[in-house]
Amino acid sequence: MAFEGLTEKLSAAFKKLRGKGRLSEADVKEAMKEIRMALLEADVNFKVVKQFVASVTERAVGSDVLESLTPAQMIVKIVNEELTNLMGGENSKLTISPKPPTVIMLCGLNGAGKTTNGAKLAGFFKKQGKRPLLVACDTFRPAAITQLEVVGSQVDVPVFQMGQIDPIDIAKAGIEHAKKHGNDMVFIDTAGRLHVDEELMDQLKQMKAAIEPTEILLIVDAMIGQDAVNAAKAFDEALDITGVMLTKLDGDARGGAALSIKAVTGKPIKFVGQGEKLDQVDLFYPDRMASRILGMGDVLSLIEKAQQSFDAKKAAELEQKLRKNKFTLADFYDQLVQVKSMGSLSEIAGMLPGVNSKALEGAMVDESALARTEAIILSMTPAEREDPSLLNNSRKKRIAAGSGTQVVDINRLLKQFELMQQMSKQFSGKNIKKLGRMGKF
Ligand code: GDP
Repeated sequence: MAFEGLTEKLSAAFKKLRGKGRLSEADVKEAMKEIRMALLEADVNFKVVKQFVASVTERAVGSDVLESLTPAQMIVKIVNEELTNLMGGENSKLTISPKPPTVIMLCGLNGAGKTTNGAKLAGFFKKQGKRPLLVACDTFRPAAITQLEVVGSQVDVPVFQMGQIDPIDIAKAGIEHAKKHGNDMVFIDTAGRLHVDEELMDQLKQMKAAIEPTEILLIVDAMIGQDAVNAAKAFDEALDITGVMLTKLDGDARGGAALSIKAVTGKPIKFVGQGEKLDQVDLFYPDRMASRILGMGDVLSLIEKAQQSFDAKKAAELEQKLRKNKFTLADFYDQLVQVKSMGSLSEIAGMLPGVNSKALEGAMVDESALARTEAIILSMTPAEREDPSLLNNSRKKRIAAGSGTQVVDINRLLKQFELMQQMSKQFSGKNIKKLGRMGKF
């Protein structure tokens, strides 16, 4: 999962601070050293790290922090705020042209995910009631046009193409086509290269001059860390981009790109791609990302995801159960089925504060494990489903026989259920308030 190493190291640094009670300036400096190392190891640009550590230190050793009752928490809060600032503060929205169509030129190196994410964005805006058009201007990579047609049809967005002719002519004709057919957003898929090269930049500059796009969105791969930041710098210098979409955040990106791009280029990350599936696209919220990096979870995104995937009634029921902390094995099974439509369990666990996502990885989400879990839960009596503490050894043996499983399978399931209950506690009454306070302390 993205940022795992960074999250672990930052948590370790904060844990040491918390263990100390009163803090001295030397304690803060020591923690800052660890934070500095953690950021550098996460491939954050060294100038950005230097600046970041300086601002956090200045605020942390400043007037009333060390004197406060909870200095360690105050420092976590400062780090959280500074991380948020580093990534741009607020969510930066895509500019919508007052005179349709809004034209978005998508640029980036080969393999960054331009084509896939162009379709993701088009699908994203279609769901919001827009009428997007994808325009195939990558005439450099032979299969790009067909690929765009395939992903376009998967999100049910039309694709305009004219084969391998001059991409600027295609872009212009695509925009005309959009005007005639009432498409209010045009996403232009442009050619990439393996590395930043002059020929590509010249072509993109000419296209920019010819079509005057509303936005130039650079697609960058979060997995390549500082190389992504360097590419962003080069594209920005040539094209004066308006924003960035960071892709492959579902992978094991260390954090360098997400944390450095805004500081280095001055341009905001507007969207993130978090998977190969075409609905795995999200707006980028610096504050939520900072919480996630600090292991405080991203409860807001989780709730939004749940709202998208569940029907409203089920979501409301679940929320009630979570709030009242009345989450039973029957709900657990329901969740497993629904979770599959939300993404991988470890991805979801990563959004929750204090949940060890590794403990939840694997077993539960594949089909056969799900069938086993179903068999086990269906072999329980309703009372057992409500109260698993009833499950003594003889009951477990009965259930194992009834479901064609072993007692160890039942124990594993109960362990996973316990973890899920821990998650549910995060949502329950007073903890919801606690979570709310996390942003403020
Ligand atoms: P392009 O050369 O920039 O047009 O890149 P493509 O759109 O062809 O994407 C390159 C590869 O990255 C494809 O295999 C995509 O499925 C994959 N990809 C794109 N976005 C994501 C993402 O957010 N997560 C993951 N895991 N893979 C992605």
